Amino acid sequence: MYRDVSLFINGAWTPATGNRSLPVVNPATGETIGAVAHADRADLDHALEAADKGFREWRKVSAFDRSKVMRKAANILRDRVEDIAPLLTMEQGKPLAEARGEVMAGADVIDWFAEEARRTYGRVIPARSEGVYQLVIKEPVGPVAAFSPWNFPINQVVRKLSCALAAGCSIIVKAPEETPASPAELIRCFADAGVPAGVMNLVYGVPAEISEYLIPHPIIRKMSFTGSTAVGKQLAAIAGAHMKRVTMELGGHAPAIVFDDADIDTASKLLATAKYRNAGQVCVSPTRMLVQERVYNQFVNGFVRHSQAVRVGDGLEAGTMMGPTANPRRIAAMEMFVGDALQHGASVRTGGHRIGNKGNFFEPTVLTDVPKDARIMNEEPFGPVAVISPFSSFDEVAAEANRLPYGLASYAYTRSAKTANAIAAAVESGMISINHHGLALPEVPFGGVKDSGYGSEGGLEAIENYLVTKFVTQAGL
Ligand code: NAD
Repeated sequence: MYRDVSLFINGAWTPATGNRSLPVVNPATGETIGAVAHADRADLDHALEAADKGFREWRKVSAFDRSKVMRKAANILRDRVEDIAPLLTMEQGKPLAEARGEVMAGADVIDWFAEEARRTYGRVIPARSEGVYQLVIKEPVGPVAAFSPWNFPINQVVRKLSCALAAGCSIIVKAPEETPASPAELIRCFADAGVPAGVMNLVYGVPAEISEYLIPHPIIRKMSFTGSTAVGKQLAAIAGAHMKRVTMELGGHAPAIVFDDADIDTASKLLATAKYRNAGQVCVSPTRMLVQERVYNQFVNGFVRHSQAVRVGDGLEAGTMMGPTANPRRIAAMEMFVGDALQHGASVRTGGHRIGNKGNFFEPTVLTDVPKDARIMNEEPFGPVAVISPFSSFDEVAAEANRLPYGLASYAYTRSAKTANAIAAAVESGMISINHHGLALPEVPFGGVKDSGYGSEGGLEAIENYLVTKFVTQAGL
């Protein structure tokens, strides 16, 4: 069922010039299931040439017509959900239901940006002299280089791609080598919907080689990256040296604050569900559960109960609630985080071990009594390990929430409107979700502050990143 994946350059599916490829491994079985083409420098040059040509063409297509092509792509994607979701599960590991959800959410993202394509309004500024018109016009920034990771192979591409196409930009996507088939199928939906040759190009290879070549290249006018903070800083430095526009969606270490007036059963259930979604490989995954002392034991018991109820297995099997991690590096990282926490005096309340020796399975894990200098209290775990710590006062928990350089997502549970307002104001993060989990919809901003990056991947703000402002002042003859 799994197909080998080619590059997509100038409207054609093509092997790499040097015929090199990389293996694709099913993380549930450890078996090689296919191969992905590995681009050479010549392929990147073709993609750049195509993106340059594609931009000149696409920017002239009216927003109205761009929007129509995009909506067609969204419908094709919906029609193909049953073909694409199993590919996503086979290469990434997430349960089929989550994979289906990602595909359908991708179609919603396309639809929303297709609508916004028609609303990239400028404005008219009243002039100081009669007969003068002062116009603010939004234009597409130009060809974009986009780098997306393996945790949401469709979602991470579709946001960048939809923004670029809506704004009138062309794009070269460097999609993840570990999960290449589902983003390729996404691109195919757009191609089949009628996006002209050259507007959209897809490459795979050695990430650093591709980013170091594309970002400085004069044809590229903007880059967008989703991934770790460490890599994001390197790429932002390259972009800065070449004065390229940047969107950075980087790591997080989300605090989830549970006050003692909250509905504790709901909080423990929703937070545990969020923690184990996609085996914890989510940039907005709740990581530090900070629970007020009076309800701490009740919360821990509830969270552990929900963790133990998570059925772990191959994402293609019915009933699986959590699949394997997408690559063996995450298993090694989970073992490191748990071992380090234990050395620092932590308690494992459930889980803590790899499951079996085939595939990358790890037990849903809950740690308590973890000191602040343990690595998991400072580094993004990006896996199925939760930490629960008690707090006593508002000021103490606000300080802990803001202790780290990250500032992507945060969560809070309270029945008090006053506390909800106060915590929303106090937490340094790009997003906060209170008493429910409501992040990452296409129509709302999605992005971080501090080391979690800048720019937005959702809402009106997202498309702004792909537009430049031109001022035109014109007097009557
Ligand atoms: P990594 O930091 O090497 O890679 C993260 C992503 O960046 C991958 O998709 C990779 O292909 C890409 N990448 C790496 N170096 C690059 C470069 N020089 N140019 C362009 N792209 C590059 O490590 P990893 O093991 O794949 O993931 C580890 C960490 O990355 C995780 O622990 C997590 O913190 C972070 N991550 C974050 C997200 C997110 O959604 N924000 C997604 C995936 C990974």
